Amino acid sequence: MLDKQIELVFATNNQHKLREVQELLGNHFKVLSLSEIGINVDIPEDFDTLQENALQKAQYIYNRTGHSCFADDTGLEVDALNGEPGVFSARYAGESKSSKDNIKKLLANLEGVKNRKARFRTVIALIFDKQEYLFEGEVWGTIIETEQGSDGFGYDPVFLPDGYDNTFAQMPLELKNRISHRGIAVSKLITFLKSR
Ligand code: IMP
Repeated sequence: MLDKQIELVFATNNQHKLREVQELLGNHFKVLSLSEIGINVDIPEDFDTLQENALQKAQYIYNRTGHSCFADDTGLEVDALNGEPGVFSARYAGESKSSKDNIKKLLANLEGVKNRKARFRTVIALIFDKQEYLFEGEVWGTIIETEQGSDGFGYDPVFLPDGYDNTFAQMPLELKNRISHRGIAVSKLITFLKSR
């Protein structure tokens, strides 16, 4: 058991993700956002794999601040679209990174397509005690034909996880966290941190 709070920078300013991850990490950890440590730039994500992008972001923070930190990169990989949008999920419909437009494009590309299998995949890169570590999580589901629910973010309203009757956007955050790509990757991160 850890007896003192550990501060970790999460290389994001996405309040949804910060809340999700802080809830998963619990009181033993204090997750700091980029703005809380005074970094207010868009961190580069120049690569075409989730792993390389996550590492690039964590290294960027570590090299500038020396803080223990982690970064995640997530993609929605759709079977019938050969794994697209994948690493380009955020900007699938353009640089404005609009979730509404991304969903619209996804549904248009899947119009009339029977195979709607997809997975979310998250890779987390952690820099801790000057070492780099990687953790991965995935969840399979189906892309439904019309948006359902208004919670969550990104592609949540059209992602129906296998074994459930509700989309991610219709679920309590606590349930989404338990079964999601990021939830699984963060659980692995926590197990690791608690063993240190
Ligand atoms: P990021 O690497 O976590 O920023 O994720 C890239 C993009 O994938 C986001 O802009 C969202 O469109 C999508 N995404 C990531 N995580 C989720 C999620 O939990 N639900 C829905 N969409 C997500």
